[in-house]
Amino acid sequence: MNNENKSIHEFDLNLICEYFSNVERQGPGSPEVTIKALSYIENLTDASRIIDLGCGTGYQTMVLGQHAPGLITGIDLFSVFIDLFNTNAKKLNLQDKVKGVVGSMEELSFQEKELDLIWAEGSIYNIGFERGLKEWKRFLKPGGYVAVSEASWFTDKRPTEINDFWQEEYPGIDTIPNKVTQMQNAGYIPVASFILPENCWTEHFFDLQIPAQEAFLKKHKGNKAAEDFVVRQQYENQLYYKYKEYYGYVFYIGKKI
Ligand code: SAH
Repeated sequence: MNNENKSIHEFDLNLICEYFSNVERQGPGSPEVTIKALSYIENLTDASRIIDLGCGTGYQTMVLGQHAPGLITGIDLFSVFIDLFNTNAKKLNLQDKVKGVVGSMEELSFQEKELDLIWAEGSIYNIGFERGLKEWKRFLKPGGYVAVSEASWFTDKRPTEINDFWQEEYPGIDTIPNKVTQMQNAGYIPVASFILPENCWTEHFFDLQIPAQEAFLKKHKGNKAAEDFVVRQQYENQLYYKYKEYYGYVFYIGKKI
């Protein structure tokens, strides 16, 4: 990458981080869904070690902190998100139980068999579903759990427009039975999988972006990269309303054998 491209790339990343810092969460989800996924996980105690990978500003981590025993570490690549994460933990008086640190899900430095639970809502796609499940397993105790949400197809066939969009966005998207098989092949018992309800996309994700988009465009008036980014977000949101029968987010919960 030459210097010019690199600086454009970094500039775009800063914009993306700024945009998503101003919304409640950085992917589809809801407190109810986090609590439902947590209900499948057994044997957690006050001594349990839990990590939340790709935690963003930590909306779901705070829900975990309020409903699960144990100590929770949120990990995200971007310090802007982690700073907000730790501010949110303090606001909720969770700072002794929930801590955010900057790091990559691709380079974890935990001991083997140290963890009781690995959580990742709307973020495992960054490493890839199969690769993440395989690489993270060694850090889990036998009988430990993984709980991840991931974009998935609901049908075997789908219209070209949405198929092409996702092939470009995330070629790892697959049907629910295929994802469950991948989880089993990675060495987990597939304990549960369930589709996230529509309000995880609408009420908890898209609706909150509308005022954030207005403020963002006002602040970056005339900035083509910022305008293009918002147009892309709006297009993604429209595609969801048009094709939501064909895809969505699915939670997958697995137990290490
Ligand atoms: N779990 C949050 C955020 C999901 S968005 C929620 O549900 O709201 C995906 C997150 O993954 C972003 O915050 C992004 O910064 C983070 N991310 C991307 N690549 C990463 C990596 N290699 N390691 C850790 N986090 C990463």
